[in-house]
Amino acid sequence: MAATSFEQMGLDPRLLRAVAELGWAAPTAIQAEAVPLALEGRDLLARARTGSGKTAAYGIPLLERLLRAKAVPVPQAVRAVVLVPSKELGLQVLHSLRLLAAFCNREVRVAEVCAQSDLAAQKPVLMEKPDVVVGTPGRVLAHLNTHSLVLRDSLELLVLDEADLLLSFGFGEDLKALLCHLPKIYQALLMSATFNPDVEALKELVLHNPVTVQPQEPRLPGSSQLRQFVVRCEVEEDKFLLLYAVLKLALLRGRALLFVSSISRCYRLKLFLEQFGIPACALNSELPARSRCHVITQFNRGLYDYIVATDEELEGRTESAEPRQRRKRKQGAESKGGDPEYSVARGIDFQNVATVINFDVPAAVESYIHRVGRTARADNPGTALTFVLPEEREQLARIEDVLAGENGESMLQPYKFCMEEIEALRYRCRDAMRSVTKQAVKEARLREIKEELLNSEKLKTYFEDNPRDLHVLRHDKPLHPAIVKPHLRNVPEYLVPPTLRGVAKMELKKRRRLRLPHGNGRNQDGPRPRRATNPLRSFRYSRQRSRKHRTAPPS
Ligand code: AMP
Repeated sequence: MAATSFEQMGLDPRLLRAVAELGWAAPTAIQAEAVPLALEGRDLLARARTGSGKTAAYGIPLLERLLRAKAVPVPQAVRAVVLVPSKELGLQVLHSLRLLAAFCNREVRVAEVCAQSDLAAQKPVLMEKPDVVVGTPGRVLAHLNTHSLVLRDSLELLVLDEADLLLSFGFGEDLKALLCHLPKIYQALLMSATFNPDVEALKELVLHNPVTVQPQEPRLPGSSQLRQFVVRCEVEEDKFLLLYAVLKLALLRGRALLFVSSISRCYRLKLFLEQFGIPACALNSELPARSRCHVITQFNRGLYDYIVATDEELEGRTESAEPRQRRKRKQGAESKGGDPEYSVARGIDFQNVATVINFDVPAAVESYIHRVGRTARADNPGTALTFVLPEEREQLARIEDVLAGENGESMLQPYKFCMEEIEALRYRCRDAMRSVTKQAVKEARLREIKEELLNSEKLKTYFEDNPRDLHVLRHDKPLHPAIVKPHLRNVPEYLVPPTLRGVAKMELKKRRRLRLPHGNGRNQDGPRPRRATNPLRSFRYSRQRSRKHRTAPPS
């Protein structure tokens, strides 16, 4: 039976305290169903949509089980393993488990073996036999093969997080090999956002007499929490123009994730925004894992407003792609210099994302769901904005069909934006686009990799000793291979559409007075000003009054 409160689950007081400290009033649907069953020792196949609280759905029973096992003196051993598809997710899971274990961190130690590229460097961590090891199947198998990790006599619980993605990342063979190193009896929890034939196959391989848990909840939050809009663009230039207008005239508030379809577009967009003094971070599989994780951590700390990301792992893939395709994808990513264990759209908990912008329409419905799922997490509201070109309409129609409501109505509303109103900005947009040449994009891409590798490797030891200094290492600094024209930074008043002047004028005036590069409330080089002293942060305008003047969508 589903539990209605954490207290009802009979959890250790230290776990209850951690949950209270996190401010979680009640279990989410997946937690309410999965935790009691997992505590009974059952194997689980759980379907949990991204952002539904699935980490704690397995994290709580995992920690509870370990605390019970360690209530009497027992030899130190690795008792639980959490397998994740990517380094980013591995670090996030580590962080979540550590928060849940905050009041029992002497009794339960959690370690990860995915972020560091050097296997040998991870050995000392494993020598200490942490109670829980988090890692990708590839990494865990490598340690099992070299005997730096031995599980045959100690493993009690195995978790497969984002199981469908574990397979699509080409970890199928690693998983099979890994299972040979495990004891005959252990409890297994398999979490997956989708149930497909691959997951079924994995279920047969790993689970024994499992219970299936799939809370009846839509795959994306409802329209009262998540507003989804579509903007039809006639030509590619319109997308750039629209984004420029929306960001520069402050029509979107809060932080945004911008998704594009390829790494070169990622840099094209970053350089384009740079032309207008809008700082943004690039996030893609080419960057070293440490830098990617750092970008996500800093974004979650509020340091950046915009991230331009790719989600290569999901693009162009059907739900049950066959193994050979997966291996190819993995090999392909490696040969192109990309990291096959990269994942942005899936599982990663970007916090306080007000808007997800699909600058390019994603190729698959799954990809749309995972991108858009980065906003409106837990109980927060969010907006998704998808820019669509005529050649992308078919793709979008497929997404709309799958997401359609019970009566067949589309969940994606037209974004009521009058392109004619921002025509005056087109010249500047074109000017900026012209500066971002193919060569500039190529150079930016190379430069960023070089810089990030430097940050990642050379400064690693320094930052380990001086973690506070890590704050100053920003990832949204201009890359500048394109010629930046200073006059593009500001929007002169005569170019602001008359209907938007009321809103944009005040924003721009204040930005200029503060000499901010953009409305992100801080100077590019200096530290973030305190909220109380930053008028941009405390700036409020009457939504009701201004709405009728704005071309933004109705709420
Ligand atoms: P996850 O699906 O595990 O990535 O979790 C998504 C977000 O939900 C995370 O930021 C969690 O901190 C948050 N969360 C998890 N469980 C709860 C809960 N019971 N109440 C409120 N927030 C939660």
